[in-house]
Amino acid sequence: MTEFSVTEFRQQFPILQRLVNNQPLIYCDNAATTQKPQAVIEAISRQLQNTNANVHRGAHYLSAKATTLYEQARAKVAQYINAPHADQIIWTKGTTESINLLATTIGQQLLAEGDEILLSVAEHHANIVPWQQLAERCGARLVILPIDQQGRIDVDKSLPLIGDNCRFLCINHASNVLGKINDIKPLLNKAKQAGAITVLDAAQTAAHFKIDVQDLDVDFITFSAHKMFGPAGLGVLYGRRSLLDSMPPYQFGGEMIKTVSFEHTEFNQTPHKFEAGTPNLTAVIAMAECIDFLTSDLCQQSLRYEQALIAYAYQKLDQIAGLQWLVVGCPDLPIFSFTLQTGHHQDLASYLDSRGIAVRSGHHCAMPLMQALQLPGSVRVSLAPYNTFAEIDRVVQCIVEFIASEQ
Ligand code: PLP
Repeated sequence: MTEFSVTEFRQQFPILQRLVNNQPLIYCDNAATTQKPQAVIEAISRQLQNTNANVHRGAHYLSAKATTLYEQARAKVAQYINAPHADQIIWTKGTTESINLLATTIGQQLLAEGDEILLSVAEHHANIVPWQQLAERCGARLVILPIDQQGRIDVDKSLPLIGDNCRFLCINHASNVLGKINDIKPLLNKAKQAGAITVLDAAQTAAHFKIDVQDLDVDFITFSAHKMFGPAGLGVLYGRRSLLDSMPPYQFGGEMIKTVSFEHTEFNQTPHKFEAGTPNLTAVIAMAECIDFLTSDLCQQSLRYEQALIAYAYQKLDQIAGLQWLVVGCPDLPIFSFTLQTGHHQDLASYLDSRGIAVRSGHHCAMPLMQALQLPGSVRVSLAPYNTFAEIDRVVQCIVEFIASEQ
């Protein structure tokens, strides 16, 4: 394998050339959304310029072409996650919509009073609120799995919580705040033995390594294209075929219908049954390019570089006096969340922004985790393989300057 060139990688991302607040942009908000490579940008504009038409409908050349590209993208994503069949890939608006879809279809279908939905304390709101609302409607209850000091779901303490009443286990592959990859297999296995449905929120991991749904033997996995160099407004929901087939539709209208009369509607088959209305076809078609990018030699090489970046950033940030980590130890993903002994996290984010450095501050859509950690919020520096060691040095320098200015 040839040596990874961060310069070559950066060249794929035109936005990295721009200034922000008259300073070179240092983009460290990748856990929120990644930047887009030229290939994906061009795929979006190519679709709009050359193949734009509605899918699955028109009896004309362009519609047929758009439909072919749309279905090819589905097949490409299926291959990317080793799904047995392309029909098990459902296009959604994002991880949030995928989980809402599950809660209102199979969740509503299977849950009864007294049933339990197991979530970890470190879930994103998108993997809490749909289940919470469902539980309220069905008389079910949420059971919360704890994390350990390192910030991973505590497997030893969680396994005994997966009991006979567990109907759904819905956990993240890695927290968007803590950046630790969870040891999910023992939890998934125990949930399966208990007869529960398993749902994996892979929003943070899908860009960082290949997920194999057959190896994980999980019922549902979801992730968002925009966090993996792809377009916004597009999510993927993979599901076990037998479950998808037995689930009711999510929304009604458009391609999810086979026949309609005023007396009766016959629904289409999986996956179209779950794709009501005109989909985000431009994004779907561009997603094929995104998968090509992720599986390219350059991107594959970037994963080793990313590991070096994680180690370097952790070591450098760890040396800052007054910086307090949320949990113990170096993260597995390039996600670094911390607070400061002096200075508010929001003020630090603004200070960094004025120097062209984009980070996130606040609760990161994980308020229950912040409550558990007894914190009002934190700063999150999240990296991608276009970040450089020099950028990390600059971020660290600015944090140190900020701390000094607060004393
Ligand atoms: N789950 C996790 C772990 C996330 O990090 C995010 C987004 O930050 C989501 C769910 C929601 O994703 P989206 O906003 O793309 O629907």
